[in-house]
Amino acid sequence: MMSLCLFSMVSMVWGSSPIKGNQAPGFFRLMVGEVEVTALLDGSISFEPAILRNTTPLLIKMLWDRAGILSAEAPASVNAFLINTGKKLILIDTGNGNGSGSESSSLLENLRESGYQAAEIDAVLLTHAHGDHIGGLLNRNGERSFPNAVVFLSRAENDFWLSAENAAKVRPEKRKSFARVRAIAAAYQKFDAWKTFEPGTELFPDLKAEAAYGHTIGHTVYLLSSGRQEIMFVGDCIHNAAAQFPRPSIGVRFDVDITRAIETRIALFARIAREHLLMAGAHLAFPGIGRIRAEGRGFVWLPVTFGPVKTGK
Ligand SMILES: [Zn+2]
Repeated sequence: MMSLCLFSMVSMVWGSSPIKGNQAPGFFRLMVGEVEVTALLDGSISFEPAILRNTTPLLIKMLWDRAGILSAEAPASVNAFLINTGKKLILIDTGNGNGSGSESSSLLENLRESGYQAAEIDAVLLTHAHGDHIGGLLNRNGERSFPNAVVFLSRAENDFWLSAENAAKVRPEKRKSFARVRAIAAAYQKFDAWKTFEPGTELFPDLKAEAAYGHTIGHTVYLLSSGRQEIMFVGDCIHNAAAQFPRPSIGVRFDVDITRAIETRIALFARIAREHLLMAGAHLAFPGIGRIRAEGRGFVWLPVTFGPVKTGK
């Protein structure tokens, strides 16, 4: 009896504790002036060193070692960003979506967890038309994921991807990317909800589209200003933080015009650092929001700290 008692006392202290295995919802919120910005996690990805260009394996190894990347591939995120101006709900990029096969996208789930519904979104601003940014526009049935949203894509990007001539020129395996953009655009065009714009356009009050060409033909960044604060949504101006912040002259295989992409990154990051802007990146570690400081030949990434939302109320 005595030993049984002792056993139950021990098991109370050392009792079994099943591993939970689940994660916190993938959203992160902060105020930029009067505007609420919510980072939404679509998924996690990783980059192999071979995607990096204009560099050497030795330099990559050194930079990755310095960043503590011990694995063969560098982890990264797929982020989208929701802006609530108080009047409009505007989504920047839409993640991979679940429409074209193997992708597993958490964007809509995390949007709901953050307190919003897809049908409430008024506008979607695309940085460019790669699948991990536009894929979330359609659901598995090929219908619009955001039935009340107007989608905005730069004219240069739109014209490139919707050109039958361009689609015919590329290798057959790349042709499906063109078909995907066409299908997505058609689903929204049917409802007159697909718009193009020129760089420099203020699409909504205090939300301006700027050309950041290079990664793709019409890659666009968006600058949101509110009060004395500003945040620049930089899309795919950076993929691998460990390499491209300290050495912004390193490009990636996915850059359509790598020289221009490098020039764009260096100029944009210099401005973001100089003007102390907040920055939000599509593939920076979730939530992908922070500031940068110029140092040496490049920049240092200063991510935001998790904490309560300061609404000023
Ligand atoms: Zn991307």
